[in-house]
Amino acid sequence: MSDFSISNDSLVRHVFYPMTNVIQNYAWGSRSSFAQLFGIANQSGEPQAEIWMGAHPNGCSTVNTQGQETKLSSLISQNLSLFLSDKIAKRFGELPYLFKVLAAEKALSIQVHPNKHQAERGYQSEEQQGVPLTAGNRNYKDPNHKPELVYALTDYTAMNGFRPISEILAHFNYLDIPELGSLVNDLAGDQTPNGLASFFSGLLSLQGEQKEVALMMLIMKAKLSPTPLFNLITELEEQYPGDVGLFAPLILNVIALKPGQAMYLDAETPHAYIKGTGLEIMANSDNVLRAGLTPKYMDVNELVSCTKFNEKPIDRLLLQPLEQDGVLEYPIPVEDFKFAILSNSQQRKIKTEGAEILLPLDGAMTLTHQCGETCIIDKGQSVFIPAYADCYTVDCEGRVARAYS
Ligand SMILES: [Zn+2]
Repeated sequence: MSDFSISNDSLVRHVFYPMTNVIQNYAWGSRSSFAQLFGIANQSGEPQAEIWMGAHPNGCSTVNTQGQETKLSSLISQNLSLFLSDKIAKRFGELPYLFKVLAAEKALSIQVHPNKHQAERGYQSEEQQGVPLTAGNRNYKDPNHKPELVYALTDYTAMNGFRPISEILAHFNYLDIPELGSLVNDLAGDQTPNGLASFFSGLLSLQGEQKEVALMMLIMKAKLSPTPLFNLITELEEQYPGDVGLFAPLILNVIALKPGQAMYLDAETPHAYIKGTGLEIMANSDNVLRAGLTPKYMDVNELVSCTKFNEKPIDRLLLQPLEQDGVLEYPIPVEDFKFAILSNSQQRKIKTEGAEILLPLDGAMTLTHQCGETCIIDKGQSVFIPAYADCYTVDCEGRVARAYS
């Protein structure tokens, strides 16, 4: 690699920084998916849940500078404007997104992320109350929202948004569980977002014998009704026995993404990843309010105050990318990140606006820069490209995922 001098300070810099990324071994992760897709070895045999590509303190990527492994966050903080662009440095003050590969063998918790305003308010209020950041009952880890996009690499099952209330009622009428009779009757009599909010929080707040009996009846009925929906509940019960989130597939849309399909997870919308491997890009935040399929803390009141109880039509969940010249750009309604897939790139010129991360998905990729620097990145490996690169060229026969801002 040749060096690239930037004139406004004395350090010699590269334009391409191949990254070494942290793999998170969460218990729900797959043991084989990263090996199958990218040839990433799994010597310890532990679950490999997520590859983190970015500058987040809980799993910061490293890059090689002047012969030393350096945290990406330290590199960027040498000169925010240079690495991120003036605009992004002023607006966000850090790399505004975290890019991940996520491989779910088991379901993740059902969650809602607050919008920006709710996150600011919630963070401030917990700070004032003196709830420690690491406390189990702390809801807000930072004052930021956390919009997410997921792009499926394999078949990918998830839940996202509320089903039509009529469908929810049909499911619960079919179950006919006496312990839930009054909740279901109230929803039938008030088929509005308010009615749905009471129903959802009532269900999540079930306790003791009422909860046990309702779940027992749910599982009994599910085993007697081998439809895909009830089979899913039976499968989830093996992972999360006794969890009130087992009702969620009857309330939330269950969606099966095909490889190459993408979906946006809006703030204030309940969602859960059930199974599959995909790319995920999100704003730099850790604010999660949980709604089941979890042994962790659940704050039902806070959750309800951060949830929009609107029906979400399933045919509007998929993102429709804009295609131009072999580039699929996925429209995202926030400024924290952008996401695109480049296909069959031959001498494709890319203009940077902020800092980018590229991840080839199908085969090796070659990057070149007018300064003479060049680098080859294998599939499943990633590279950080600072804003000051300005323009570079990509050659790759397969797909390259591009995270940028
Ligand atoms: Zn989420």
